[in-house]
Amino acid sequence: MQFKERLLLENQAWLATMQERDPEFFARLDKGQSPEALWLGCSDSRVPAEQLCNASPGDLFVHRNVANIAATEEAGFMSALEYAVSALKVPYIVVCGHEGCGGVGAACAGKPSGMSHVDAHLKPLVALYEQSKDALTGPDDKARVNDMVRRNVEAQVNKLAGLDLIKNAEQPPTVLGLVYALDRGHLDFVCEVAPGQAAAA
Ligand SMILES: [Zn+2]
Repeated sequence: MQFKERLLLENQAWLATMQERDPEFFARLDKGQSPEALWLGCSDSRVPAEQLCNASPGDLFVHRNVANIAATEEAGFMSALEYAVSALKVPYIVVCGHEGCGGVGAACAGKPSGMSHVDAHLKPLVALYEQSKDALTGPDDKARVNDMVRRNVEAQVNKLAGLDLIKNAEQPPTVLGLVYALDRGHLDFVCEVAPGQAAAA
């Protein structure tokens, strides 16, 4: 079966299951959304936001890019952030990194990937790596990349918490940092900045 046919068929199967479980489910979602969080995660196919925390449609407002970067110079990211904070008034923003992140690994490689958009996107992460590389711990490159994954999550959390858009929001959200372990399916807490609490330097 071709990919396109499989997609449409799997959708039919999913919607039948959802309707059977909760006949009002789609009618309720049609009335509007009130998600609990904006999720900023990595585009990696192995880190599906909703599935790994058992969330349903309507629970998370999701933005994903390579290496979960708060790309404040990009209208794509900023529009999602602004809408989540100013219109949906989400109580939480979640930055979720993951171990074995290819984007973080590329930033740690010390040389351009050869893909111009990827390299442009990873620039702030390369700068963070240059600042952090002497402090990275671990017995091998894999462990050092995973240490960098955590530092990247902390950096993105602090960057977001320091934005005027967040600080001056009518209802400022709490910003949470998490790391997902691909090999164990485990989500780990890294850091948190509550409203009114100063972001780390
Ligand atoms: Zn990744």
